[in-house]
Amino acid sequence: MPARTEGSAAGTLIAAHGGRVTRARVAVLELLLSSPHPLSHEEIATRLAGGGLAPDRVTLYRALDWLVEQGIAQRLAGNDRAWRFEAVRGDSHRHAHFHCDRCGHVICLEDLSPAFAVALPAGFSLDRAELVFHGACADCGRQRAEDAPAGEQPDGIV
Ligand SMILES: [Zn+2]
Ligand SMILES: [Zn+2]
Repeated sequence: MPARTEGSAAGTLIAAHGGRVTRARVAVLELLLSSPHPLSHEEIATRLAGGGLAPDRVTLYRALDWLVEQGIAQRLAGNDRAWRFEAVRGDSHRHAHFHCDRCGHVICLEDLSPAFAVALPAGFSLDRAELVFHGACADCGRQRAEDAPAGEQPDGIV
């Protein structure tokens, strides 16, 4: 199979929405499409810089805004007030998210989508839903267990 030019899927998607296929848009969308979990501005900037492309902040914000406006990507609010971005894949964007309150990671809970089949009042239609669970991810949960020293229980409190 011949190797395909990187970015063709992202470029095609952008062109299909009537947008200009700019380097920044393609790079950002590729990143979102390949990421298994939503990314913050900072993570996107860091990864693009690691890949040899470092668009300035304004260019990055504009590229993300455009992708969100077009419905290609969506924005999720984190409790740290930092937006996370993820690519919208067909109807699968109707899923819930888990937010780790310790490290700030946000992961997609794809298996939960049937839970959004809620009963809406007559005449209402659902475009999107955002359900966020909060807690500790596996790494942070493990770390917490390891960090708790056995002998440090306060005496006197029974
Ligand atoms: Zn965590
Ligand atoms: Zn998600």
